[in-house]
Amino acid sequence: MRLTMVGTGYVGLVTGTCLANTGNDVVCLDLDAAKIAKLRDGVSPIYEPGLDDLLSRNIEAGRLHFTTDPAEAYDRAEIIFICVGTPSDDRGRADLKYTLGAARDIGDALESRDDHAGEAPIIVVKSTVPVGTNEKVRAAIAGRTSKPFHMASNPEFLKEGAAIGDFNKPDRIVVGTHDERTAERMRHLYAPYVRQGNPILCMDVPSAEMVKYASNAMLATKISFINEIANLTEAYGAEIEQVRRGMCSDSRIGNKFLYPGLGYGGSCFPKDVLACMSMGEDSGVPTELLDAVHNVNQRQRSVFLDKILGHFDGAPSGRTVAVWGIAFKPGTDDVREAPSITIMEALLEAGATVRAYDPVAHETGHEVFGERITYADSSYDALDGADALVICTEWSEFRTPDFGEIKSRLQLPVVFDGRNIFEPDEMRRLGFVYYSVGRRPVG
Ligand code: NAD
Repeated sequence: MRLTMVGTGYVGLVTGTCLANTGNDVVCLDLDAAKIAKLRDGVSPIYEPGLDDLLSRNIEAGRLHFTTDPAEAYDRAEIIFICVGTPSDDRGRADLKYTLGAARDIGDALESRDDHAGEAPIIVVKSTVPVGTNEKVRAAIAGRTSKPFHMASNPEFLKEGAAIGDFNKPDRIVVGTHDERTAERMRHLYAPYVRQGNPILCMDVPSAEMVKYASNAMLATKISFINEIANLTEAYGAEIEQVRRGMCSDSRIGNKFLYPGLGYGGSCFPKDVLACMSMGEDSGVPTELLDAVHNVNQRQRSVFLDKILGHFDGAPSGRTVAVWGIAFKPGTDDVREAPSITIMEALLEAGATVRAYDPVAHETGHEVFGERITYADSSYDALDGADALVICTEWSEFRTPDFGEIKSRLQLPVVFDGRNIFEPDEMRRLGFVYYSVGRRPVG
């Protein structure tokens, strides 16, 4: 099928590349000329495991194209996926300016394109949007063209860091449409991805829009829940890892997404929880649980910061702090809403010098901090002469380090572990002062 992805970010690029890989002819459109120029050279503007290889193979096969020209992108598309960003506006609502901007562009392009033989195109909203947005998109397109088109909602569930696997083997695919023929065409497109019996769930459009928010809100709730329990555990001298194991062996609870840490970040959970809360505000439906989920998440960063500041008697001025991990989670270079940003900003504000290391997120980190922090060439280089190590992201390469090397490079053997990647008993044996989350401090 001939497909167009509008917006070539984490979702548009991964989705477009994976759809090209099953034989579709895909055009990825973006307003960002620098991004498109890189992609035309076969260089991915984002870090996503496995993407580079898939990208070059599909470009070479002539199935994957990149453009900034809407006329070229929309000319022959049978299905157009809107994958633009939906960030929070200054009141926490999903800002639909990119979504509706793309809709108007699509309307203009449909109006001026030659009528091709075949069925009217399907416009698919893949961006995460509040209930009612598909209807706004339909109206925006219809305001610009009298040509026929169909609409579908198809929220995306991929996770950064595992996006290709998630897209190729999704737990489920959700399609919202009021029209059986559109559902049939979407089922045909996705058939290669559901060969193992994972379902394509067709439903009405508002429900499809809501599924995505409900799913992200649930996952965010699990994270805030375990963080709140971790704080209680710590206050009463219990150990969260033991509590977690005891709790998670109950099959009704399960063990996924119940790891204490610095709280959730990234480009989805924070904004999607806020957008859900706004939907409640707009409809007069209280969202007390989500309000608490959000507040607990924000507080979790200060709970951890208080440990760092407390260790330095509230005055880390003149100290050097090494930070491992800038990305909001392992496997990505995305730093949007990363807890590391809150931690490093607060340390800088308090007068500390910050030396950071991340396996892939120096460029994106630089977009936030510029030269206000330094970027070390390796995890060990970040430690030289530092007064403490702070772990913000649980990259695999941090999990079994050479502790002797850490100790010899640090001025003082102090570790603040925001992801509980080390064992307190081992840290005690090795002579570290060690703070983590929901566990008794060591040293
Ligand atoms: P992103 O910010 O990485 O990319 C969006 C891209 O859209 C940008 O490159 C921007 O230049 C481009 N754009 C904006 N307006 C455009 C227009 N009119 N025409 C062409 N291009 C345009 O965003 P993302 O992280 O890929 O997220 C996109 C959507 O998918 C959001 O709604 C997000 O909530 C949702 N989502 C994201 C993830 C994720 O892990 N990132 C997962 C599932 C769903």
